[in-house]
Amino acid sequence: MANMNSMKAIIDECTELAFDLNFTKVKQWKAEDESRVVVGHLPIYFPREIIHAAGGLPVGLLGSGDRKEIIKGDAFYQSYICHLPRGVIELALDNHFDGFDGFIFPSICDVVRNLSGMFKITKVGTFIKYMDFPQNFQKHIGGTFYISEMQAVLDKIKKINNVEVTNERLNHSIGLFNKNRELISEIYDIRQDFPWRMTAIDLYHVVRAGLVIPVEEHNEKLEAILTHIRRDIGEPVDKIKILISGSFCEQPPAGMIKTIEMAGCYIVEDDFILGSRWIIGDVDNTTGDPLNALADAYLNKSTFSSSVYDVDDPKGARIAKLFRERKADGIIFAAASFCDPALLDRPIMQNACEKENIRYISFKYSENTGQFKVIKEQVGAFSDSIKLWE
Ligand code: SF4
Repeated sequence: MANMNSMKAIIDECTELAFDLNFTKVKQWKAEDESRVVVGHLPIYFPREIIHAAGGLPVGLLGSGDRKEIIKGDAFYQSYICHLPRGVIELALDNHFDGFDGFIFPSICDVVRNLSGMFKITKVGTFIKYMDFPQNFQKHIGGTFYISEMQAVLDKIKKINNVEVTNERLNHSIGLFNKNRELISEIYDIRQDFPWRMTAIDLYHVVRAGLVIPVEEHNEKLEAILTHIRRDIGEPVDKIKILISGSFCEQPPAGMIKTIEMAGCYIVEDDFILGSRWIIGDVDNTTGDPLNALADAYLNKSTFSSSVYDVDDPKGARIAKLFRERKADGIIFAAASFCDPALLDRPIMQNACEKENIRYISFKYSENTGQFKVIKEQVGAFSDSIKLWE
């Protein structure tokens, strides 16, 4: 009983952390030591290890969800783009990022590129870095470029706190994030077979909390969660297992995740907080060249999403493989409205499903969607139809 109470306490704390738009814990962490820096980063493919090694806290920025009314953000953007950047600029203009030293904008789409320009204009933080990713996956070209981009970030932080980032520091940070990915991955593996042991929304909150606290602290929480769900707890319900794809950047509202599970599905795989899971497996932290190891992880160990060029490793085949590995019954393509990368990829992904006889449904959402009735009916019908066919 005591264990269940502590699991609930961890989940409650993570739920609070995940949606704290004032970044209270981040600001407390920074106040404890004047050499500490806080660097906000947009999703995804950003190696948080380098910020940690430089004495910083990488803070994942995912917009304002359904927790803030957007007024100024709408004046910055045309109506036919996604919601995430409006929320982020609104937070910036309302001083939620006070105390942040820098901001990284990974090159995942044009909207994020434009957002980096808006941050420059509004002069938030000490540095703004638009981080370009290589489209060439050859080590001596794309790898070299990725290293130069990481080095540029480190140079900017050094100007602020003068911390010398050694290979030892980098390897240590890589080790901590390897552990973090390994723990999250074990939770997903357990949920694949026993999804009733932890709901998808609880898992979502726990993983999302890791974007705003030090990785050491997050690892402790994940270890505690694992201790609980390795045990035979809860009772299975007659639901299908599904994989969600397309939610890698702007996040679905929490109510949507709950609705999907309540409408007859166990979510056993997703791309919700992909920034915490984009490297598959470990980054080698035993070499004398950790930046090279991080570049190698980007080139050779990164997961697929619509924001990265798939070269010789087509996403359609990769999603079908993931579907089989997770022993899922169907796929839900859920993407943010006006998310060009996800929506342009959708026909390719759906074609792959049809070729492989994988059942799927598709819909769009906005991070501040408040009505889930239509989604509930669509998902419920999907779940029922799969159960009937089975
Ligand atoms: S939701 Fe899509 S379009 Fe919007 S910022 Fe993210 S990747 Fe870009």
